[in-house]
Amino acid sequence: MSSNAKRELAARKERMLSQHLAGRGVVDQAVLKAMREVPREAFLPPGMEYLAYDDGPLPIQEGQTISQPYIVAYMVEALELQGGERVLEIGTGSGYAAAVLSLCAAQVFTVERIPSLSHLAAERLRELGYGNVTVHLGDGTLGWQEHAPYDAIVVTAGAPEVPEELERQLAPGGRLVIPVGPTPHLQDLVRVRRDRSGSLHRETLCAVRFVPLIGAQGWEY
Ligand code: SAM
Repeated sequence: MSSNAKRELAARKERMLSQHLAGRGVVDQAVLKAMREVPREAFLPPGMEYLAYDDGPLPIQEGQTISQPYIVAYMVEALELQGGERVLEIGTGSGYAAAVLSLCAAQVFTVERIPSLSHLAAERLRELGYGNVTVHLGDGTLGWQEHAPYDAIVVTAGAPEVPEELERQLAPGGRLVIPVGPTPHLQDLVRVRRDRSGSLHRETLCAVRFVPLIGAQGWEY
């Protein structure tokens, strides 16, 4: 990339931070810092780098998407991370949100169902030095039992219902953020909290639009 193109990208990134994130109410300084540090252009298919800081989702390989930066920041903020948590992400996709999470938490476990995306993201995250992220190939509607329970769980695909298995893998005091809706492409973002006594409490945050969560406790393929 030429030095002019790099300068232009840096200016677009600052605009994203001030207008699309802080300007829309993202206040968590750790989240804003992570969104500044992670190079979104490195997670896009070749030739799309110049679009990295536009205010929208973008297509990646296998007909999937990398989420809108604002939605990534909003969802990470909604997890209320303090920095020491173990986080499970369902829907690795490009690996971008996992990289952002890795700067806001102690450890990130991320699950993707499409082999080529999982391999590409794992390689990319390793090359970029995100050493506290572990990528797993599998059906994330079943969580990742091996490392449970998690202090926070974020699902980046839309589910018909909150998968029971994900609620089960949520630690006391933990937060689960997930798009849930009656059709595969239109959802409400829902936050489930498990209180210290183990009870679950659900609240709706906002309307969102994600690709479908496909699996045993998601949509059928
Ligand atoms: N977090 C991603 C990023 O930063 O690029 C964006 C993810 S994209 C919106 C949703 C991803 O969820 C897709 O890659 C899709 O293959 C994946 N997915 C759908 N159902 C899944 C499941 N049951 N388990 C794991 N991943 C799933």
